[in-house]
Amino acid sequence: MIEFKNVSKSYGNGTKALDNVSMKIEQGEFVFIVGDSGAGKSTLLKIIMREEVATEGTVVIKNRLLNTMKKKDIPYFRRHLGIVFQDFRLIPTMTVYDNVAFAMRVIGAKEKRISKRVPYVLDLVGLGSKADSLPNELSGGEQQRVALARAVVNNADIIIADEPTGNIDAKRSCEIVEMLEKINATGTTVVMVTHSEELVRRYGRRIITIEDGKIRSDDISRVGQKREDFVLPDLDIGSKRAAREVDEFIRSYHSDRRDVNGGESDEQ
Ligand code: ADP
Repeated sequence: MIEFKNVSKSYGNGTKALDNVSMKIEQGEFVFIVGDSGAGKSTLLKIIMREEVATEGTVVIKNRLLNTMKKKDIPYFRRHLGIVFQDFRLIPTMTVYDNVAFAMRVIGAKEKRISKRVPYVLDLVGLGSKADSLPNELSGGEQQRVALARAVVNNADIIIADEPTGNIDAKRSCEIVEMLEKINATGTTVVMVTHSEELVRRYGRRIITIEDGKIRSDDISRVGQKREDFVLPDLDIGSKRAAREVDEFIRSYHSDRRDVNGGESDEQ
């Protein structure tokens, strides 16, 4: 499904971001890619998405050789992928419903199908009641779930999630993993990138660790183990404060907006 053979990637400035990486991910697998900042995780994802091309080695995804793929074929190839970007990339002027529907509209889906599929997917990520909200009316965690809904709405074969780095609430990370597990249970391949080793150790999944552009370990020892086997102390949720700050910011932003648009003084 996803195969890297002796892949290296050097950027124009001489930085070698990946160094002789070989790995194979089968259909239906759930794989965590972990590593410190600068290890090469984003570069690996960009190569899978065909945003970057390997300098050496070969990359085959869904039986397509990415190295030599023509520009015009890239959008078709990307239809196999559902991507949850670090910064979500939601369209601020569109409702939650339209943000998700948009992904279907760009591939020419019919409105009848869209009106069935979008509510189903929003329910799947627990946002059924937020369809008419705008992104800035949602918490950070809810925005991330909209991004996830949009990634899965077209029934992609591979879901790629690039977890936001920095002050992300640990509870929120677990929530996203659990939603990805639900999606994976339907046969979709999931690749999730994270910097948190603590997070990945909670799940019975394959863990590929990247260090200085190389695969340091490819660990399948936890695969198949049950959740109960991973009873760990609570994650450090010191970052809860940061999540609260984001929520407060969103709330105040929202009330400012109401003042601007809804205040009597604005009416002509
Ligand atoms: P990670 O996602 O694990 O933080 P990256 O793949 O972003 O790692 O980066 C790996 C290395 O490649 C880092 O040294 C980074 O500075 C470098 N790098 C990433 N993108 C570029 C780029 N576009 N141009 C030059 N160097 C880059």
